[in-house]
Amino acid sequence: MNEDQLTTCKRCGGNACYEQHLPDSITTWLCMGCGFTTSTLMNEDGKVVKDLKDTSPELYKDLLFLDDNKRYWAPSTITLPGKGMVFLDGVNADDWQWSAVKAIEITEEDRKVKQFPKDQTHKMDVESASKFGQREFMDALEVIGFFEPELQNEN
Ligand SMILES: [Zn+2]
Repeated sequence: MNEDQLTTCKRCGGNACYEQHLPDSITTWLCMGCGFTTSTLMNEDGKVVKDLKDTSPELYKDLLFLDDNKRYWAPSTITLPGKGMVFLDGVNADDWQWSAVKAIEITEEDRKVKQFPKDQTHKMDVESASKFGQREFMDALEVIGFFEPELQNEN
């Protein structure tokens, strides 16, 4: 991760907000502190926000945060194929946590019990989920190896 692209989060004020520039002058932000994300497309009256409000669970909608640039921040969901995922888990806007779930290899036994697509090699090990506080998004990412360089197969 390039230090130059870290900025101050408009939601939590933390200094570990990862700014990324995409084609078509789109900029996205993902805060490693609070785990919320936004982009230049997430403006108050934009289509992206409208779609998000139409399709998101109540909890996500309740947690949307409008910053002083009139952009909405939403909780992010991180999925690393073969490694795991981090997502928000909770009952209401005050009572929620980050959840980290590791991916495990699908065994022959698993395939006898449940149908998995042939090309799917891993599944989320929901029973091993670990919980993290609202400002511990980065710790949750560490559990699924988000910051590790790609491992070699011979390990
Ligand atoms: Zn933040």
